[in-house]
Amino acid sequence: MQGRASPVKSVMHRLVAAPVLALPRGRCRVGSRRGVNGESPRASVAHGIVTCQNGDMEHGFPAGSPALDFAGTLRVRRGPNPREMLHSPESLSSWFRECGITDGDLACGPADLREAVELREAIYRLVVARIDGDAYEREALGLVNAAARRPAPVPQLTDAGRSVEATVRQALSHVARDAVAVLSGPEVPLLKECANPDCTQFYIDRSRGARREWCKMDPCGNKIKAAAYRARKRASAKATASTGSRP
Ligand SMILES: [Zn+2]
Repeated sequence: MQGRASPVKSVMHRLVAAPVLALPRGRCRVGSRRGVNGESPRASVAHGIVTCQNGDMEHGFPAGSPALDFAGTLRVRRGPNPREMLHSPESLSSWFRECGITDGDLACGPADLREAVELREAIYRLVVARIDGDAYEREALGLVNAAARRPAPVPQLTDAGRSVEATVRQALSHVARDAVAVLSGPEVPLLKECANPDCTQFYIDRSRGARREWCKMDPCGNKIKAAAYRARKRASAKATASTGSRP
């Protein structure tokens, strides 16, 4: 019998029941065919061992929330060249698996990817509004709530471990429900954006004293620390030169 990997990061998620937000490395078996009702066929995902603990991950999960991690799959948003991590149906499938929402690859296609990106952008806009204290955009709110109303994946226990049958829409429902939970929950005051100005990742700061400044030490924390060090060196050199030039 195979041993189970250690618990899947902090992103191992709450499976919440159809909430609604109110105001105030993967390789994928792509090619997937959509069913007659427009849904992707159920993927038979395999099991037992959650694979996100290995070092072969395509995506990062620093946020402490699947919804915030999902919003972060478009990186460096304010830069001239944002970096898209959901660049293919395969990368979307990898994200679900590495996040732990599914145990294996999902069969997803281009239409699934478009729907996922649409949901991601809606989540991002809602998080921005929540942090800034602004009203939610109606369109984004409706989109996230519609996704959250759909059935979510249901984990099943088998002799081999956990098994999850899921469509892409079900996996997206899981993400949308997490967005609802995060944006309406007690950790709203802990929502932060990474202090690295080149990074636009949101996260929940659960550190002692809520003093976390960046999404990850490498590269963001190291970059900020290096910049601070250079600034101190420049200030010190300037002070020395100034003192030395006095008559
Ligand atoms: Zn960062």
